[in-house]
Amino acid sequence: MTTKIAFIGLGNMGKRMSARLVDPSHDVFVFDVNAAATEALVDQGAQSAASPAEAATDADYVLTSLPNAKIIESVYLGEDGILQTLRPGAIAIDFSTVDPLTSRKIAEATSEKEAFFLDAPVSRGIAGAENGTLAIMVGGEKRAFDQAQEVLTVLGSSITHVGESGTGAMVKLCNNMISAIITAATGEVMVVGREVGLDTRTMYDVLSNSSAASHMLSDYFPRTVFGEERPVGFTLDLMMKDVDLFLNTAETGTVPLHLSSAARQVFRAAKSQGMGAKDSCHVVEMYEAAADQQLRF
Ligand code: NAD
Repeated sequence: MTTKIAFIGLGNMGKRMSARLVDPSHDVFVFDVNAAATEALVDQGAQSAASPAEAATDADYVLTSLPNAKIIESVYLGEDGILQTLRPGAIAIDFSTVDPLTSRKIAEATSEKEAFFLDAPVSRGIAGAENGTLAIMVGGEKRAFDQAQEVLTVLGSSITHVGESGTGAMVKLCNNMISAIITAATGEVMVVGREVGLDTRTMYDVLSNSSAASHMLSDYFPRTVFGEERPVGFTLDLMMKDVDLFLNTAETGTVPLHLSSAARQVFRAAKSQGMGAKDSCHVVEMYEAAADQQLRF
């Protein structure tokens, strides 16, 4: 028996994730407001739907990868939205990075339809989406999480049930806040190193084998910062969105937010200099310009 899967939001992440699901055991229906994105998936064997509601009709799983809370709410709760047609027992899984309140609101509306909603943000970027090696952090009912393994294991290699609805969303925001702080700190300090005469490769060799080591420095900077080309993986605009979402949530609590707030100002300054569509790590260019130095091998 084939499983019917709807996939909505075919951007940098969604087009790669949905393509992995197209195989003889799945009927995959796709929708994106960008018709060219839908056509590209149809060329790979998916079927096109005219709206989220049409894609979700009779689906066993409805998967979404969308830019922000407003769009996610309209795709789930709007006039032509998923919940108009989602059948009882179906499982909706949102891979977007969004605030926990939005996830909980959609989970409640989904449960009124006797269906399930999992907030399941992802890490490891477009390479992880392409290769099926995403880290997926999931909030929502455990029995839905267990059942959804048949889909999640096609997309990810590290899949964790974090807890109740909204906890997947929150742990993802924690992850990206820490990444943002490390990115800003690594860029700022290494450009100071360049300014006083250190070589980039030597600094990298020492720091990535010392207590300053991080995934950002060891893995991400070599791919996005140190080479001649500086490709875009995860945009500064998306990082800014996640930092704002983290701080909006954190500011309702009591913890002092010195470093998170400072990192927000760093990324905001870079965005105001027109760097929103660049990779989030290209924030180092702000420091490079100040010092008239380059962080390249
Ligand atoms: P993207 O902007 O490339 O893709 C978003 C897609 O959603 C686009 O194709 C857009 O046309 C579509 N869309 C917008 N409004 C829509 C609507 N109303 N109905 C249907 N489709 C609509 O973004 P992305 O990089 O693929 O990221 C998607 C999500 O994954 C974001 O929440 C992002 O924060 C998160 N994320 C991205 C990365 C990354 O490396 N790019 C990594 C982890 C998580």
